[in-house]
Amino acid sequence: MAKKLKQFAVIGLGRFGGSICKELYNMGHQVLAIDKNDSKVNEYTQFATHAVIADSTDEKALQSLGVRNFEYVIVAIGDDIQTSILTTLLLKEMNVPNVWVKAQNSYHHKVLDKIGADRIIHPEQDMGIRIAQHLTSEKIVDYIELSDEYSIVELLATAKIHNKSLIDLDVRAKYGCTILAIKRGENVNVSPLPSERILEKDLLIVIGHKNDLKRFEDDGM
Ligand code: ADP
Repeated sequence: MAKKLKQFAVIGLGRFGGSICKELYNMGHQVLAIDKNDSKVNEYTQFATHAVIADSTDEKALQSLGVRNFEYVIVAIGDDIQTSILTTLLLKEMNVPNVWVKAQNSYHHKVLDKIGADRIIHPEQDMGIRIAQHLTSEKIVDYIELSDEYSIVELLATAKIHNKSLIDLDVRAKYGCTILAIKRGENVNVSPLPSERILEKDLLIVIGHKNDLKRFEDDGM
């Protein structure tokens, strides 16, 4: 069955919004790219389904573009916090179901949260955390923070656990975390059976409390 394509609008085509727009478009999604700067819009005509010049604080402009019908709208306005807040407010008033907004600082975050932004993103901070995790562990390949306490990590299986089954490892009982999937080359085994054996260099996708994940990483593998 063909994958259902989602409709996205990206407001603000700086480095952050621009990357999101290009990536979504390359994945085959419908993307409406919006910026008030005409040279940005010209640059993005080739990386979006439609690229239009508009000021996102102009409610009528948003309405005439039919932004209310989009499933996802990404607000990627960099420095101008006031504009970002007003844009988000208009989008939520139009009942856009998923409004994702790039935040500049904690004050901005707080206001966005209050006015109903569905997801607030701090790209530099998030990336910084991920890079630090990569730098300090040879086993951690990727890292997603779910909350202050919980995360999902992608760990490179070591020789120590080569050919061990999930029962042998008993990660949940011993470390309180869960192996969600095992990646071997292109193959991803989601919800692996307890009898499944791990090979060295497999990638383990593990969810748990940060302390538990650290214990598993340090002592269990
Ligand atoms: P980044 O840090 O991701 O590079 P920038 O601050 O450079 O972000 O880019 C933000 C983009 O948002 C700019 O291209 C700017 O023209 C656009 N922008 C700012 N205000 C508005 C607005 N009211 N309506 C539409 N686009 C806007």
